[in-house]
Amino acid sequence: MTNTINQSIMPLTAKINSSNHLEIGGCDTVELVKNYGSPLYVFDEETIRTCCRQYKEAFSAYKNVSVLYASKAFMTRTMCKIMEEEGLGLDVVSGGEMYTAMNSGFPMGKCYFNGNNKTQDELEFAFYCNIGRITVDNFYELKLLNKIAKEKDRNVDVLLRITPGIECHTHEYIQTGHLDSKFGFDLSQLDEAISLIKNEYTNLNLKGLHAHIGSQIFETQVYADVVDIVLEQFAHIKDKFGIILEEMNIGGGLGVKYTEDDDPPSIYDIADVIINSLKENLLKYKLPEPKLIIEPGRSIINNAGVTLYTVGSYKQVPEGRKYVAVDGGMSDNPRPSMYQAKYSAILANKANSSPDEVVTIAGRFCESGDILIKDINLPITEPGDIFCVFATGAYNYSMSSHYNRVPKPAAIIVQNGTSSVIIKRESYQDLISFDLIPERLTKGVLNNN
Ligand SMILES: *Cc1c(COP(=O)(O)O)cnc(C)c1O
Repeated sequence: MTNTINQSIMPLTAKINSSNHLEIGGCDTVELVKNYGSPLYVFDEETIRTCCRQYKEAFSAYKNVSVLYASKAFMTRTMCKIMEEEGLGLDVVSGGEMYTAMNSGFPMGKCYFNGNNKTQDELEFAFYCNIGRITVDNFYELKLLNKIAKEKDRNVDVLLRITPGIECHTHEYIQTGHLDSKFGFDLSQLDEAISLIKNEYTNLNLKGLHAHIGSQIFETQVYADVVDIVLEQFAHIKDKFGIILEEMNIGGGLGVKYTEDDDPPSIYDIADVIINSLKENLLKYKLPEPKLIIEPGRSIINNAGVTLYTVGSYKQVPEGRKYVAVDGGMSDNPRPSMYQAKYSAILANKANSSPDEVVTIAGRFCESGDILIKDINLPITEPGDIFCVFATGAYNYSMSSHYNRVPKPAAIIVQNGTSSVIIKRESYQDLISFDLIPERLTKGVLNNN
């Protein structure tokens, strides 16, 4: 079956050009660094759009499907425009993500608002934006949301998030009755939540259930399991309350290939598993077809993105490793230091050269743990080389920090030989733009805004 975007480490358009440079989206990456500086996040538009289309096609065997992009993976106004053009909805988890979507002109009816501690301000903002759905996570929120809706004399469409009792690790999973998770209602609390909506919280319209089992998932079976569990609840709710739920959101989580060791299923593989399980369960419980909602994040954006760095200093530990340092690291990509994430990389300016040495790529931040890649085979690496790390589109920029007061890198999008800035590189001025000094300490200060 066809390979999908999450199964290849590099963006679709990656190739080596006649100067032995890595090219993405028809742009020479070495030239990109000359023009925009480094570190630089580069996103390939064709890869992003192809992935959206693969999701839509893979799920087209079921008529009533919505694909939402889980925007926390990488959220900018440009992403919203592309998702809008591709016909996807958005999963948002904060006021900031909602604001970004609204500001970009995104149709807010296609946004679903998730999160385990949405603030009152955020919930009010959701009303102001006319958000499509709010996925209610717990009893506290149920009450708060109903109160806000009542005060505004409005009704709001909600899903209830459940903890399906499937805990997934990358290659294995265990099922437990009560999962120790901060997210969602335990299955044993669902009846009470529904009674409350039915009898007391009458400004909430219950549309369906939501479940999300985890991230970077390589198993297909867990998707069948989550469909089983959600539809079992649909049947139970129909029997007990006479309510026929219309929507099931089964979250995201499809894994991606970061290195040659990773072998995630394709988008078509999980679509088949999900749709088969869905059809079986609908027959079994004699339920009408609900709307199926999926909300992938990582698998849509991760492998469309790379990060380009410039090589600087190096250190040969006597009879030990050779450390080669680049001009970024844990502030633009916290994943290796946070959870030992592995990546693939090449020298973009020596893209087709054979490997000559094993080096460890260190970041520039003041932590010994700031290592991007341990023991990678590269051509002889020299200061000024361009180091390209693949598969950095998801949870890199979105988890970046200002550690060591290093300005955040720029992000560009490439397409058909053109490149455009989608996030400006931060300046030193930007770094201090939120700093204030109390009046009594301002002697000698250049400009205290
Ligand atoms: C994070 C998250 C997603 C997306 O997960 P990915 O692993 O990036 O696909 C989807 N739904 C919910 C509720 C999430 O928290």
